[in-house]
Amino acid sequence: MDGCIFCKIIKKEIPATILYQDEQVTAFLDIAPINLGHILVIPNEHHCSASTIPEAVAGHLFKVATELGIALKRACNADAYNLHLADGTAAGQVVMHAHLHVVPRFIDDHFHWNWRQLAYASPDAMNEMKATILSKFRLPTESAE
Ligand code: 5GP
Ligand code: ZN
Repeated sequence: MDGCIFCKIIKKEIPATILYQDEQVTAFLDIAPINLGHILVIPNEHHCSASTIPEAVAGHLFKVATELGIALKRACNADAYNLHLADGTAAGQVVMHAHLHVVPRFIDDHFHWNWRQLAYASPDAMNEMKATILSKFRLPTESAE
């Protein structure tokens, strides 16, 4: 897509430290890493939301990301890794080309995701939430009908 910085990285129109590229996905170092070695894995086709990435490409992207996570553990002596994907501005997405972060993590690396933990008012409230979500949930094969 014209003007998309990640599309330009895929096409080598701007520099990036590309770790892996095939017909479907590209993986490169994040320019401002949470920890050194932080990788972004993206579909070569422009998708703003991860939800529109074809299932086969999304599965491959996830597999490449987890293999890179394992490589980070071995190469950087990371203790673990996070996979993170922000889908939409309110979720923290800044670059509007879907991307999966692979973040190497170290014991005592002093980085905190800062999850907060709210509470449902009652078990009924949880069941109402379940019903509301399921009323809108469609698997890809169903929504294509
Ligand atoms: P988001 O907040 O959208 O999930 O993450 C976007 C990520 O892209 C950020 O971690 C940011 O550092 C990274 N990023 C933004 N522009 C560039 C760039 O031009 N090159 C590289 N390698 N990473 C970038
Ligand atoms: Zn793009």
